[in-house]
Amino acid sequence: MTLAALRRAQELCEFCPKMCRFACPVSEATGREALTPWGKVSLAVLVGREPDAAAALAFAGCTGCHRCAVYCAHDNDVPAILYAARATAVRAGVAPKAWTELPARFSAHGHGETADLAAVHSTLRSGHGDALLFPGCDALASGGQEARDALTVAKALGAPLGIAAALCCGLKLQEAGHPELHLAHAARVRRVLGPKPVHLVFLQPACARSVQEWLLPEGSRVEHITSYLARALAALPERSRPPPLPETLVWHDPCGLARGLSELTAPRALLSAALQDFREPPRSGVDTSCCGAGGLLPRTLPDVASKLADERKAELDGPAVTSSPACAAALGATEIVSILARWLQGAPS
Ligand code: SF4
Ligand code: SF4
Repeated sequence: MTLAALRRAQELCEFCPKMCRFACPVSEATGREALTPWGKVSLAVLVGREPDAAAALAFAGCTGCHRCAVYCAHDNDVPAILYAARATAVRAGVAPKAWTELPARFSAHGHGETADLAAVHSTLRSGHGDALLFPGCDALASGGQEARDALTVAKALGAPLGIAAALCCGLKLQEAGHPELHLAHAARVRRVLGPKPVHLVFLQPACARSVQEWLLPEGSRVEHITSYLARALAALPERSRPPPLPETLVWHDPCGLARGLSELTAPRALLSAALQDFREPPRSGVDTSCCGAGGLLPRTLPDVASKLADERKAELDGPAVTSSPACAAALGATEIVSILARWLQGAPS
């Protein structure tokens, strides 16, 4: 976002009658007016370049879910405004530790996790496809099973995936108020990927959305695993498909998939094939509610993040399936690739 666009977006919020007031999961969970999108943006304008630690924590109260944008006549990008405000807090020396500890980790390991992601990455066995799976830090930090399932399913559907050599796209650096380091990390990952066009397939929707904004070689393609697998499934003849699993699950649209990538069809096509039935929760599709796992909220305001997850779990009201390693962990939901892997085990040979 340019500086002029940022100022314009701030003005729109500042003088807005708070049209999105009810839409923010953080203000909903905390009941705090100061944590509405309007409250957070107004605070960012008010404190300018001199935020204090309390203001920094208010800026932390955003998961980047973009639910406010659904109800904003201007489609205002509130997370972009708040990430810029977080950068101001970092420069002012008042940022929470969860943001300030990331640069050293990225510098040493190429990601911001405490787990040894390179070790997990080295255990993944890829096929020889032109498209590359980019598992991402969340999937690797939880042991890599979602990545293994994605590779298994892609192969079973006749569209094997290779594996991208990179561990993390660096989105967390942006979320932690380090825009320059985010750009530097993106440049480092692009060098690892090489100078030729690449086809990258992400497990984490927000990472795919972020990488879509990179300057990749012309002809490159970036998409989510559900988009990739739904295409592969469509090419599979009916007679080669096993019967659906005799289960009914409730589908949680990850914010980054439904709003970030506008991908509503692919996961539903996959679930329709693999499950006897699936349910839609009260808030689904582009109106989906957030699980609380994004925007580094679990690291800065863990109690608020837990409350968001609990409220969403109550709304889902039953065993859930989703397609984001971060959402799956927050909600105790099953990853769609794991359902598909189980379903395809019963495929006719
Ligand atoms: S995001 Fe849009 S609707 Fe919400 S306060 Fe800002 S301008 Fe108003
Ligand atoms: S992006 Fe989501 S969490 Fe952030 S202010 Fe908007 S609705 Fe709230």
